[in-house]
Amino acid sequence: PTSLKQRLDKSRQKLGYSLSSLLLGKKEINENLLEELETLLITADVGINTTDKIIKSTRKNASRKTLKNAESLYQFLKDELAKLFIENNQLNISINETFVILVVGVNGAGKTTLIGKLAKSFQNQGKSVMLAAGDTFRAAAIEQLKIWGQRNNIPVVAKTLGADTASVIFDAYQSAQAKNIDILLADTAGRLHTQDNLMQELAKIKRVITKQNINAPHETMLVIDGGSGQNIINQAKEFNKAVNLSGISITKLDGTAKGGGLFSIADELNLPIRYIGIGEGIDDLKIFQPKEFINALFD
Ligand code: GDP
Repeated sequence: PTSLKQRLDKSRQKLGYSLSSLLLGKKEINENLLEELETLLITADVGINTTDKIIKSTRKNASRKTLKNAESLYQFLKDELAKLFIENNQLNISINETFVILVVGVNGAGKTTLIGKLAKSFQNQGKSVMLAAGDTFRAAAIEQLKIWGQRNNIPVVAKTLGADTASVIFDAYQSAQAKNIDILLADTAGRLHTQDNLMQELAKIKRVITKQNINAPHETMLVIDGGSGQNIINQAKEFNKAVNLSGISITKLDGTAKGGGLFSIADELNLPIRYIGIGEGIDDLKIFQPKEFINALFD
């Protein structure tokens, strides 16, 4: 199997490789080097605010002599970047009752693919799974989920195109509870007539589920396309405002050099990163582990 390192190779070129060639052979940490470092981090999609924070801390530690030379800067940066992630980031699934995962995100982010990968992985762990085809705005999304469910022996609750999403998920939830299903994965629309419409609709879905069970949804997960770059941050904040996110998953990290974006996403949103998608295959999903991710990018 291909290693995480290989899958992240494009981002690795931008971060680890560039950084080692910047620091290799240099001794002193001076303003020149800091400027080059700043440019490098921004180019690697670490984002202006997060880069700023890292440069400041580098400068502070360099002037206090806790950071002595350019060589130790490499490890220092790895440690600083690691601090941006919430350490306890894993989704804690208790199955005393049906655990509801509401999946949100714009069209094409990889929601449906992620739901498929997750369903399969939960099933492999011996858990029972149900899917709710909540993206009633796109016929293809309903079809895709239904076919996928049939193929993998996973029940899918779906209604017709244009049906009320909240009612689809509500029905799925009741059915899942009645059948003692461990985990319900609910898909949602990624685009409506307007962005405002979408946010209102998602907020409504959340209200309807929560009314049924104060704990549900147990996870409200935003799916982000890892190749989208910095403009995704504001969009993610919009989603957070509408539905109060509890976690983020980031897809398509295999095809992009923008993996550095995870640092600013973690920093700016202050939410745990749950899973990362590293390919189109059903098994190309990983539980996000900050240290492993950083090592794959740097070592
Ligand atoms: P949705 O509109 O959010 O439901 O997005 P889809 O799940 O339909 O995914 C959109 C496209 O991205 C599809 O062609 C997927 O195969 C592809 N995709 C999803 N996740 C990944 C990933 O981790 N890596 C790669 N390379 N492609 C992915």
